[in-house]
Amino acid sequence: MIWFHRLLRIDLARQTATVEEVPAELTAAFVGGKGLGTCYFYREVSPRVDPLGPENKVFIAPGVLNGTLTPAASRYEMVSKSPLTGLYLDSNAGGHFGPELKLTGHDLLILEGQSPHPVALVIQGDAVRFRDASHLWGRSIYETETALRAELSDPRFRIASIGPAGERLVKFACVSNDYSRQIGRGGMGAVFGSKRVKAIAVHGTRTLPVADPDALMDAVDAALKHIFENPWVPHKREHGTIGSLDDNHTLGIVPVHNFTRSVFEGIDRVSSTVFGELVEARLACAICPVACSKGTRWRGGSESDGIEGPEYETAALLGLNCLVDDPQAIIHANLLCNQAGMDTISAGAVVGMVLAAADEGLILWGELGLSPSMPRGDMVARLLERIARREGIGDLLAEGARAASEALGFPDLAPQVKGLEFPAYDPRVSPGMALAYMTSDRGACHLRTYPFGREVSGVLPWFSLEQKAEFVKRQQDEKAAQECLGVCQFPYGIGLLTDDLPNLLSAASGEEWSYERLCAVGERVWNLSRAFDAQLGVDRRADYLPRRFSEVPMPDGMGAGHALSRADQDWLLDRYYRLRGWDNRGLPTPQTWERLGLSRFADLPTC
Ligand code: SF4
Repeated sequence: MIWFHRLLRIDLARQTATVEEVPAELTAAFVGGKGLGTCYFYREVSPRVDPLGPENKVFIAPGVLNGTLTPAASRYEMVSKSPLTGLYLDSNAGGHFGPELKLTGHDLLILEGQSPHPVALVIQGDAVRFRDASHLWGRSIYETETALRAELSDPRFRIASIGPAGERLVKFACVSNDYSRQIGRGGMGAVFGSKRVKAIAVHGTRTLPVADPDALMDAVDAALKHIFENPWVPHKREHGTIGSLDDNHTLGIVPVHNFTRSVFEGIDRVSSTVFGELVEARLACAICPVACSKGTRWRGGSESDGIEGPEYETAALLGLNCLVDDPQAIIHANLLCNQAGMDTISAGAVVGMVLAAADEGLILWGELGLSPSMPRGDMVARLLERIARREGIGDLLAEGARAASEALGFPDLAPQVKGLEFPAYDPRVSPGMALAYMTSDRGACHLRTYPFGREVSGVLPWFSLEQKAEFVKRQQDEKAAQECLGVCQFPYGIGLLTDDLPNLLSAASGEEWSYERLCAVGERVWNLSRAFDAQLGVDRRADYLPRRFSEVPMPDGMGAGHALSRADQDWLLDRYYRLRGWDNRGLPTPQTWERLGLSRFADLPTC
């Protein structure tokens, strides 16, 4: 078991909720989380829908191990069509919301239609209430969660909500749960805003149907033993993700000044050590033995201006990438994004891009509403506030780096693939990360596979193309499977590196799960998302890096002189497509569709 085999379909226009069966053949093929969400998305959402229109839907799925004692099984998924990329989108978050959602007794929640007014959905077991949330509209993430929690008078509720950025349809708005955990990438917050869903509060009242509790406890013990033996874990616990900032800067991969270079003169002022000294709290997601999250506070504000973070990506993109060398300014920028509900990665990439354009004279400072004499941190804060309010130039920047750069006349400056902005790794310094960005199922992403770690540790040859396609394809499948289970990658390693995860699922479900069977689930998911995007014209032509990353070598640092030529990218793509069983255009073939058993669930479109 472990599945309830129930989904909750919520019609926002009619304000009704109905329970439907989730067939066992779907959980056997797609498990839960990302897999189940993607399967239903593919079957129910037409590729041509307006991402911000009523026909788009949001599929919210707890990981299948959420709610069990599995270490770090806290992550849940949302799947929809992205308003930022116009393509398939999935994103997941930790915290406490996912396990609580699972314990409501549903494997999947589907939001469809548009509410006539702002609404907060309150789900407690089988009971669903549609609370008018007009009084919360316009309020920040922190204010919303605090106010709704007080109104519900029950601390057991876990809440996910959007801020003003989502309400104003900022294309990289996020959904936040437990105050500081984000469904961050691709604009899920804008989809919520378009549906006028201000918040979802969940409280689980069900008992999980674990098949073999004793076997599950044995598998949990084994997993914990391996987690505590993992030499990587103490570093994550002590320093969090921002502990990587100094090393990554030394290795030359941290983006500086809109991904134009890698050496930042102010690194000592915003180093991992500096941020470590600002930590005021150590925090963890549900049932996590690592507790990587670090709490800091913006000292220019009030006692309540605390954040979880800044994480590595945030500090790099809102800091070095924007030439900000003031740690308090970076924390402030992080806080502004958290309150408004914006993805810090996309926000840092967009702001970094226009500041670099202004430095180059490609746009006037006055057009940005800034003066060149302002402290850099103030510039970032000013632009973030304008984006969140869609005010002045912020209205255009809220469309994301690709759209804004095209409208402003410098399309080559946008660091993006398929419209999703780069995270904090310059792809010229890692052919593996370059291929990860090129082939990620939602646009440039570092969370589907992370070859850079293997490159710099010598497991993979660093600046070589060799072995990258094999590694990326395999880890993408493994990571997709991990996202069906709902476990965090940090304790286990990215992907399915140990037997622990198949063993945990076998014990919880009473079925035989192996590494190979889980990888096949990941591969099914990967083919469904590609087939969806293919109907929107995505093929090899959409899989390249922006031109400057193939034509302009990195000027400094350990990656100096490196770029990834178009021929190199084609070499990688050819290998990658072959491994995936895709044709030369990068599209799934009928043979691959059959091999994965997908024709039982969905048709392969002809493109
Ligand atoms: S390792 Fe960090 S992100 Fe992962 S579950 Fe634990 S606290 Fe959350």
